[in-house]
Amino acid sequence: MTFKAEYIWIDGTEPTAKLRSKTKILADGAEPPVWGFDGSSTNQAQGHSSDLVLQPVFRCPDPIRGGDHILVLCEVLHTDMTPHPSNTRALLRPVAEKFAGQEPVFGIEQEYTFFAGSRPLGFPENGYPAPQGGYYCGVGADEIFGREIVEKHLDNCLAAGLGLSGINAEVMPGQWEFQVGPLSPLEVSDHMWVARWLLYRTAEEFGVSATLDAKPAKGDWNGAGAHTNFSTRAMREGYEPIITACEALGDGDKPLVHVKNYGTGIEARLTGLHETAPWNEYSYGVSDRGASVRIPWQVGVEKKGYIEDRRPNANVDPYVVTRLMVDTCCSALEKAGQV
Ligand code: ADP
Ligand code: MN
Ligand code: MN
Ligand code: MN
Repeated sequence: MTFKAEYIWIDGTEPTAKLRSKTKILADGAEPPVWGFDGSSTNQAQGHSSDLVLQPVFRCPDPIRGGDHILVLCEVLHTDMTPHPSNTRALLRPVAEKFAGQEPVFGIEQEYTFFAGSRPLGFPENGYPAPQGGYYCGVGADEIFGREIVEKHLDNCLAAGLGLSGINAEVMPGQWEFQVGPLSPLEVSDHMWVARWLLYRTAEEFGVSATLDAKPAKGDWNGAGAHTNFSTRAMREGYEPIITACEALGDGDKPLVHVKNYGTGIEARLTGLHETAPWNEYSYGVSDRGASVRIPWQVGVEKKGYIEDRRPNANVDPYVVTRLMVDTCCSALEKAGQV
């Protein structure tokens, strides 16, 4: 007997990487081995020396194929087994390890938008739907577009054992969100990439595409973000470390360094309108959905918990945002002796 292993990896497309996958047939009981692919077809190599290596790093049941079939998320390596420049997971590994003692965890809210052809799902052939107001967490065929796909995607993620914590309809028609976490930096990122692959793969069966474009509809429509909720053990136990983390994210060149790495087209989304703070002005506050970083109201009351960085775009690389947040906040907490 055999089973199918779907090898998934992140390519080198710029400015935003895409997911790729291909299938390997394995003998019953076999471990998924290292594999290879043609990097010249994925913006990861030149034609004259195009072989790259797929190194399995995370696996789960394949809910699309069912049975004993599996999904295998991979890191991309050169043939000498060093990480390829597109391999941002390799950069997260040492940072996550360095600060593992602080027990950092993340919950990431992935917003996305379904498209039917060239229009967001639910946008009429001509003109525009009714303005925003009723769609967020809405119900009914006049407000909700694509729920059957969303439900199927959620079931697929749960069957794969991914750490999803919820879903909701978003502010624009055809726009949705799922949340992954709270999980460690590497876990939340691995689960997020596989959940994204399952989103595209599930929607494919309905003839619908999904996009992480941060501003999928021009004009007076919300963009799509990936609010990144973060805590360390000390933050979960007290308020001072929460403030230390908020201040660290605003220190010196940190706001710019973070925003530059928070996804393609961030200036177009962080305008200061539509529940965002301007991309070039850092702020934080309790309950403030117009701030860069929000301290949720319960956290303000209980004086412990987590913070929400509202700046990352929907198209952010989770390996990058978790690395930057752990590095900035955990360094500052260590320096302040709040670990
Ligand atoms: P919002 O009100 O911003 O829409 P959501 O409910 O969509 O919030 O998402 C909140 C996310 O925060 C969830 O993914 C949840 O798992 C995560 N979360 C909750 N507690 C913590 C914590 N202590 N540290 C990190 N993330 C957390
Ligand atoms: Mn949310
Ligand atoms: Mn949201
Ligand atoms: Mn949020």
